[in-house]
Amino acid sequence: MTTITSSKYGTVNSLINGKKVQENGFETKEVFSPTTGELLATLNYTTKENLDAAVESAQKAFELWSKTNVKERAQVFYKYWSLLNQHKAELTELVHLENGKTLSEAQAEVEKSIELTEFACSIPQLIGGETLEVSNGVSCTTVHEPVGVVACITPFNFPNMVPHWTVPNALMTGNAVILKPSEEVPLSAYKMAELLQEAGLPAGLFNIVNGGKEMVEAICDHPGIKALSFVGSTPVAKIVYSRASMNLKRALALGGAKNHLVVLPDADPTMTANNVVASMAGCAGQRCMAASVMVAVGDVDHIIEQMVEEANKLTCGVNLGAVIHEKAKARIESYITQAEANGAKILVDGRNTTVEGKEGGTYVGPTIIDYANIGDPIVTEEVFGPVIAIIRVKTIEEAIAIENSSAFGNAASIFTQSGKAAAMFTGTASAGMVGVNVGVPVPREPFAFAGWNDSKFGVGDITGKSSLNFWTQTKKITTKWQAGAKVNWMS
Ligand code: NAD
Repeated sequence: MTTITSSKYGTVNSLINGKKVQENGFETKEVFSPTTGELLATLNYTTKENLDAAVESAQKAFELWSKTNVKERAQVFYKYWSLLNQHKAELTELVHLENGKTLSEAQAEVEKSIELTEFACSIPQLIGGETLEVSNGVSCTTVHEPVGVVACITPFNFPNMVPHWTVPNALMTGNAVILKPSEEVPLSAYKMAELLQEAGLPAGLFNIVNGGKEMVEAICDHPGIKALSFVGSTPVAKIVYSRASMNLKRALALGGAKNHLVVLPDADPTMTANNVVASMAGCAGQRCMAASVMVAVGDVDHIIEQMVEEANKLTCGVNLGAVIHEKAKARIESYITQAEANGAKILVDGRNTTVEGKEGGTYVGPTIIDYANIGDPIVTEEVFGPVIAIIRVKTIEEAIAIENSSAFGNAASIFTQSGKAAAMFTGTASAGMVGVNVGVPVPREPFAFAGWNDSKFGVGDITGKSSLNFWTQTKKITTKWQAGAKVNWMS
């Protein structure tokens, strides 16, 4: 255990029943800023006893909250929406510091959280059940009821937005939530809790527990937690989905990605070059929607030349953020080195980048790799850095076959001016989110977000209308009030 003398945000403890709970310090983690290298906080991991306490307080709070009318619940989220707007600058700065993305990317992340909260505020308009008179004098009605105490486990790459994918919808539908943020970026979650409390959310409905593997396993095993959402890498998503399901919990686990962009020779060169580079380098490539492989069909050299020019306009620490830590930087650079050793051509090389005045930060420059080999790890594995590998093929059919062969299936896009080619691609891509001339095909609210294949385990999507099914269970009520009603054998 390391003793810390001072840090910007001090010691971070679990949040249970609206109060920060002093842990016994059985395990701690120092949280450093990828932007500057400075020590931000010391995170105290939550003990299993305190997870029990969090579940207990959530269960108590759930009993009242689940009976509160959905329109009353929405009043809290109208206030919360307003508070998010008022505190946008502070939330942005926190994301920038703890995650490493640029200030403008961090602001976009917070704005997306505001949009997600807008959706949550609209839930009263969406959650109404159906009623039908199924035989004379007999009616059937469906109502959506909450599941109970639920858990949300989140990754490092969107410390503000990913918790907003799940927490507002889960609370709005009447559940009580335990959030386990990534131990790399725990701070934004506490600001979220502070603002929810200020908006009037009763204590005990939003609890935060901390830790890594052991805490996630304890959440999967906890009998008091009825449903669990997970967002993170594919190997962990598989473990969490299996373990939670084995424990008879409802689970939805989003995993990693390897997103393919197919570029045809008729694509608009400037729009394509701008979109491809923005997709692969935005948030330093640490987005599950980032472009990772470009499948160049035929002669698109003129577009690749423009991509190189675009990438060369990016400067680490100015308009390109940091990657999360030294280990990630080393991993990303080793993929580039291995691709080069296997014969690929490095057109733009982001290895060995440091930023003057931010020497403690962890930066990788934009990297474009041409003539990558189809079976190489840089083409098949998730790199999660500002890197794109270009594969050369002759036909769109070959390009589609390559996209379809990926184990993942989060996003895929085509760049072309041909409607026929675009329709062929959107009809055959093996991904949950598909784009035409869009580098990052994120569906905006009210459309739902989630991939396919090894990018998602479970049924349904994590946001939008689809998420309402995940966070609720339907009750089917059959009613007969007329004793003399003519009925059939069914009712
Ligand atoms: P990660 O899988 O390492 O961690 C995610 C969460 O799981 C964290 O809270 C972490 O504490 C916990 N965890 C880590 N190892 C564990 C283990 N062995 N057992 C149980 N729990 C464990 O992911 P990350 O590095 O924080 O985030 C990046 C990954 O998340 C990338 O793969 C990215 O593609 C993915 N991601 C996916 C989506 C999506 O929508 N599909 C969105 C954002 C991020």
